[in-house]
Amino acid sequence: MRLYDILFEAHWAPDTDSNITERTGQFADLMDVVAKQLGLPPPIITSGLRGPDRQAKAMFNIWRKNGPEYLINLYGNLCASCSKDAGNIAEKLADVWGKNKGFIPRPLILSGSDKAKQLIQLGVQVLSSGNNISAHQTGEALDYGLVSNNAGDIQKILGYIKSNNLAEIDEIDESGNKGGPHIHITVLGITAKGSELIN
Ligand SMILES: [Zn+2]
Repeated sequence: MRLYDILFEAHWAPDTDSNITERTGQFADLMDVVAKQLGLPPPIITSGLRGPDRQAKAMFNIWRKNGPEYLINLYGNLCASCSKDAGNIAEKLADVWGKNKGFIPRPLILSGSDKAKQLIQLGVQVLSSGNNISAHQTGEALDYGLVSNNAGDIQKILGYIKSNNLAEIDEIDESGNKGGPHIHITVLGITAKGSELIN
């Protein structure tokens, strides 16, 4: 699948990789157009493409802030668009991290913790040796953080997109994620009506 730097008017948080598929880019554009129509500020994308590094870092943060059960349930049960063995991989990561921890958790600043970096590297090894776990790794998913909009406003935009049949998506409400509350979207398709709206 072709990856490219998005030319649409999407709004990206710092330290995100905007190299996503064309279809995902069209969805980002749709989000902006609908937000404008509803009189809401442009929603902020807090995660796009994730190679093994970013994927391991994201999952490490989830594990550290919410615990192993949250991580395993998220990837094993809540994520319909994740790969079949996503739950097993999440379990493997939680296991590796649980066995090797022994550092004092710090709030979010991973760059300040060498131990955290080592643990993330262990995670990268696990993720590099298996199949993709998340649609983020192929540029087919976006996270909309609760930054410019709250969860209710993002749901309002998504509700509009769904009820007007503009795109086919798979979403996970992670507004309760303590490591960075967001709504996750895997983009399955843009309808003819949806592409009409953005062109
Ligand atoms: Zn996500």
